[in-house]
Amino acid sequence: MRHSRLVEQAHHPLLAEAARWIGHTAIRTRGTIGGSIAHADPSAELPVVAAGTAAQITVAGPAGERTVPAQQLFVSALMTSLEDDEMIVRVRFPQPTRWGFAEFSRRHGDFALVTAVVAEIDGAVRVTLGGVGAVPVRATEAERVLAGGGSAADAARAASAEIEPTADLHGTVPFRRAIAGEMVRRALASADID
Ligand SMILES: Cc1cc2nc3c(=O)[nH]c(=O)nc-3n(C[C@H](O)[C@H](O)[C@H](O)COP(=O)(O)OP(=O)(O)OC[C@H]3O[C@@H](n4cnc5c(N)ncnc54)[C@H](O)[C@@H]3O)c2cc1C
Repeated sequence: MRHSRLVEQAHHPLLAEAARWIGHTAIRTRGTIGGSIAHADPSAELPVVAAGTAAQITVAGPAGERTVPAQQLFVSALMTSLEDDEMIVRVRFPQPTRWGFAEFSRRHGDFALVTAVVAEIDGAVRVTLGGVGAVPVRATEAERVLAGGGSAADAARAASAEIEPTADLHGTVPFRRAIAGEMVRRALASADID
C-alpha cells in the first residue's frame, strides 16, 4: 500500500497521522509501506510506528513465509534482517487504545530530525523514538516512569536522558536530547497522558 492510501486509513489514526508527515504529495504517491520498512531509514516515520506498535511483519521467500516482530527486523541504519531473497508481504500494526505522534523537522516535508510515537497497547504505554539512533529506540525508562505513576513531564525528561543520539550536520547531542524530550511530551499530550 502506498503512503497516500495510508493517509486515508481512518480506522488506524496513528498510521494515518504518521503517513501525513512523510515527505510531500509526490513522495507519498509513490512510496510504499513495505519499501519504507525494508529501506529502514532511521529518520523515516513508518519504522518508528512499526516498532512503537509492536507490528508483526510477514516476509515471503523461497522457503515460505515467516513473521518477524518489527524490532527484530531493524538491525542498523538502512539494514534489516531480511534475506536477499525475501520480501515484505504484510504488516500488521496493532491498534493502540491511546496514541500520540509528534515530529520535528527543519521544514515541512523534510525527513524528521526526531519522531516520537506513543502507543498504549494491552494497557501498557510504549514510547518509541526515531532519529535518535540507527534504529527506532524504545524509551524504556520513560515507560517505567509512566507505569510507576510518574507524570508526562517526568517521562519526557527520562526519555531525553536515556537516549544516546549522535551529533551530525543537523544538530548537537544536547539539541537532539532536548528535541526528543519535547517530542515525547507532545506525543504524550496528544495521547491524553499527563
Ligand atoms: C525526496 C524524498 C523525500 C522523502 N521523505 C521521506 C520522509 O519524510 N519520510 C519517510 O519516511 N520517507 C521519505 N522518503 C522515502 C519514501 O517515502 C519511501 O518510503 C522510500 O523511498 C521507499 O520507497 P518505495 O516504497 O518506492 O521503495 P523502493 O524505493 O522501491 O525500495 C526501497 C528498498 O526497499 C526494497 N523493497 C521495496 N519494497 C519491498 C518489500 N515489499 N519487501 C522487501 N524489500 C522491499 C527495495 O528493494 C529497495 O532496496 C522520501 C523519499 C524521497 C525521494
